[in-house]
Order: sequence, then C-alpha cells, then structure tokens
Amino acid sequence: MKQVLFTDLDGTLLDLDDYSYEAALPALKTLQRRNIPVVFCTAKTLAENEYYRKELGIEDPFIVDNGGAIFIPENYFSFGFECKKKGSYCVIELGASYEKLRKALKEIKEETGFKITGFGDMTAEEVGADANLDVEKAKLAKEKEYNESFIFDEPKEKEVILFEKIKDKGFAVTHGGRYYNIHGKNADKGKAVKILTELFKREYGEVKTIGVGDSMNDIPMLKAVEQPALVKNKKGGWLDISLPNLYKAQGEGPEGWVEVVERLILISQ
Ligand SMILES: [Mg+2]
Repeated sequence: MKQVLFTDLDGTLLDLDDYSYEAALPALKTLQRRNIPVVFCTAKTLAENEYYRKELGIEDPFIVDNGGAIFIPENYFSFGFECKKKGSYCVIELGASYEKLRKALKEIKEETGFKITGFGDMTAEEVGADANLDVEKAKLAKEKEYNESFIFDEPKEKEVILFEKIKDKGFAVTHGGRYYNIHGKNADKGKAVKILTELFKREYGEVKTIGVGDSMNDIPMLKAVEQPALVKNKKGGWLDISLPNLYKAQGEGPEGWVEVVERLILISQ
C-alpha cells in the first residue's frame, strides 16, 4: 500500500535550536528511493519550504503557514483539480491574508496593551537574532502569506485573554515550539492533510498516512492521519496529548524522526 508521510519541520525534522537535519538524511534518502512522499506540514513560509525542499531534494507537495495553503508541484498528480496557479505550483488556499492577520494583531495590542511583537514588526536582523537564523533565512521567514508569527511577552495566564480576542476577531491561534501564530480559521494543518490525502487516494487508491510532529500546532495534523507520531521535545518529554494509536519516539527532534520512519514506515514495506 502507498504510504505518505506528513511531517512537521521545526523541532521534528529540523532541530529546534540550530535547524540541523543531518541525523535524518539517510532515512530521508531511503524514503525517496522507495517513492514514499514526504510532505512538509509546517508553520514555515513558502520561501522557507522551498529552501528546505531544495536542500533535501524533496519534490512532493507541501503545506505552508500552518495549513494556510497547500502547494502542489504542477503535474505531480496525473489528474486535474481545482486550484490557483502560482509559478510552477497548483495552490489550494485555506487561510486568511497576511494583511488581515496583521490588522487583527494590531487591534488586539491596542485593546489590551499586551506586549505582542510580530515578525512584521521586526527587521530581518531582529528575527534572525531571536529565531537563531542567519539574516538570509530570516528574510525567508518573514515572507509570510497566510500566517503571522509573534512573540507574546506576557505572563502565561494572560494567554486565555489573547486566545479569546483572536477568536472574537474570527481568526485562530496556535502555539508552535517557539512562537504563537495567528491564522485564518480554515487554515489548519488537519484540513490541509485531509485534502491532500484525498488527492493521494485518487492517484494511488488505498493510502496509509503517517504524521509526525512535536508540538501543539501539530495536533490537527496528528488527528488527520492514520498513524500519528510524536518526537521528544527539548525538555526531554512529549507533547501532552492522548490520541489513539499514538507512537512516541524516544529520540528528540530529527533523531526521533528517524526512529518514526524506521519503525513505522520502512519496517512495514
Ligand atoms: Mg514543531
């Protein structure tokens, strides 16, 4: 049966601190040799996804901005479907525009006085320093289209108010490993995974989906796949969720990722 791997990037395929992926390379090559699609499902932007696709030699579809849009390389599937042409991609958009998200954050800031700093408020140098990225990569991280990442510099208990405000304005919020993200209500990793899974099924008939992540923003993706898996986070534990059939890798970040690929995908081939 065709297997499809949906994977988060930060803290999962990429190390959360230095974004390294060396540990995952051999397993990644094996997946490619066996024609198992590796679908990035991440908060990262189109520009960042393109960078890592090139680095890792991956040519499969990918989900950007926390489910904001699905990018499918032209002619990847043998059939046509409804999408928006954008360069060499066929794009299915689920999210709200960056302008609307920025406007909502600005309003919340004014209404609450919360210390909220979005990527749009920061220079590439500032984003780079905060996210431990070089300036070139920070520029790619700032090219957001369907999501805004921000720092919420307030006590944890004020999070509830923040979440409510975002909901009231008709948007959704997720907390990744490093930043909070505001996005459209329909921009959801889970919805994007389901749409792509249907396309894979149309192409291959029966499909087995595996999803791997590390934090809260991965929950919708993990719920949308048949075989969810978690890697350990930097605190040496796992995200606190219980899901049927959930596999918890012993390794952290890319090391846990390799374990998931070896134990759940390659072994059943
Ligand atoms: Mg992550």
